[in-house]
Amino acid sequence: MQCGVSENRHLRVGGSMRLRDLEPSFIKREREGFLRVDSIKDADGLWFLCPACYVANKGSKGTHALLCWSVKVGQDVTPRPGRWQLVGTCIDDLTLVAAQSSIRLTDSPCKAHFYIRNGVIVHA
Ligand SMILES: [Zn+2]
Repeated sequence: MQCGVSENRHLRVGGSMRLRDLEPSFIKREREGFLRVDSIKDADGLWFLCPACYVANKGSKGTHALLCWSVKVGQDVTPRPGRWQLVGTCIDDLTLVAAQSSIRLTDSPCKAHFYIRNGVIVHA
């Protein structure tokens, strides 16, 4: 990652969780699945670990990943229907913006619901 912010990877209990802690990757859509890419300019979406389950599991072990497609990606591609604008220059200042702007998992048991603002996970 090019923005040069190095973060320790410890869980911050009571502090704000950063997107950076959730093993995020920008991804580009491929005919079958997706590729990880380094730059937001090449990205069609964001892949990261579920913040609710990351806390519940005290880390990445057993924590499922999430995929948020940008508005460029059509509704023929799962997961849907959520689409976000990826605003920022890198993972550490990334904001996901949509009509509703929060990320709500309705068909996952954790029912996680949160925002990503300026690289920080904000619970809804
Ligand atoms: Zn979850």
